[in-house]
Amino acid sequence: MTFHHFHKDDAHVKRERAKARELRQTDWWRQRLQTGVCHYCKRRVGPDALTMDHVVPVARGGASTKGNIVPACKDCNAKKNLNTPAEQILDALFPPEKKNLLIAAPHGFCSGVARALRMAEEALNATLHTPHSTLLPIYCLNEIVHNQHVVAQLTAQGMRFVCRLEDIPEGAHVLFSAHGVSPAVRREAARRSLRVIDATCPFVEKVHAEVRRFAATDAAIICIGHRNHEEVIGVSGEAPGRVRIIESAQEAEALDIPPDHPVAVVTQTTLGAAQVDAVMDALNKRFTAITRPPLSDICYATRDRQDAVRALAKQCDLILVLGSANSSNSQRLVETARDGGADAILIRERADLDALDLCAVQTLGITSGASTPEAFLEEVIEALGERFTVAAPSPPPC
Ligand code: SF4
Repeated sequence: MTFHHFHKDDAHVKRERAKARELRQTDWWRQRLQTGVCHYCKRRVGPDALTMDHVVPVARGGASTKGNIVPACKDCNAKKNLNTPAEQILDALFPPEKKNLLIAAPHGFCSGVARALRMAEEALNATLHTPHSTLLPIYCLNEIVHNQHVVAQLTAQGMRFVCRLEDIPEGAHVLFSAHGVSPAVRREAARRSLRVIDATCPFVEKVHAEVRRFAATDAAIICIGHRNHEEVIGVSGEAPGRVRIIESAQEAEALDIPPDHPVAVVTQTTLGAAQVDAVMDALNKRFTAITRPPLSDICYATRDRQDAVRALAKQCDLILVLGSANSSNSQRLVETARDGGADAILIRERADLDALDLCAVQTLGITSGASTPEAFLEEVIEALGERFTVAAPSPPPC
């Protein structure tokens, strides 16, 4: 083989290779366009009706993208000169790779919330079937559960939410929320001849019973919880003047109770375990004779949801916690996720999600508080569907 020959063959090989590459590329494009949607009119058309429309070359991810073609139906292609932004065309042709969305399990409604809502629905239905039903609305003292979607839905169904018993006409039906009420409220309801539907969660009722039991001793009763939360207000009402509410380790250290005085400790059901442990450490240092209930007051639903979000935090950059701002257990889920190493944001409504920039998030986690309806979670997942695909979380290491 002469040098000339070699050179000629070399050029020939190069040409052949280029042709093959072009063919491969065309086939590749054709495969992609086999069944598709016209980029312009968005009609789904079969392979026969599809043509290709050339558009300006673009560079994406640093590499020039050749064969800048979009699927177009024959009608639209006839119009031509459509100057569609190339990025948009590429996104239509090559949807960006979806990122993982991990959903915590369990999440959402707990048994206490489900029970309260069932009682509310039954009460509303019963009223609807009563003659002169418009004269007999159901009143709910405070929010039945701390979730704006739930309250809005029940309001639309005819339930009236009030903050004071005085706002309820005598003899009317009153629903006590899952957070419970103090004995004083029960007495006042009886005095006003209100017909009580009691949706107090059994786990909250357990804490009430503990306070009553401790109140029969000479122990100082300490309740770890948020002093403005309805549950804590109701629980402390079991022994008025005897229950000391504390929210932090600092408040535990500052208690003006002698160190050798017996103390009994209860907690709000929806606290974070870490928060309670920190306060208990301070109490243990401060007092010598502490009594606690045999089983933790933090309910199983709160603990399970926190455990799930803690596991998820190890696998996610960001965790969305769906819930209302006044929902204690939702706020604790945000804290738990952050303690677990992920960023976390409370999503109260759809607008909160729309305001988020999730471009940098590779793996997104999602959970919902014990009072958040599943429908809201489904709405959020659907909204994220273009960018994220639901994947199963990895099992925890053995
Ligand atoms: S979070 Fe726990 S205490 Fe509160 S309603 Fe649910 S089960 Fe009951």
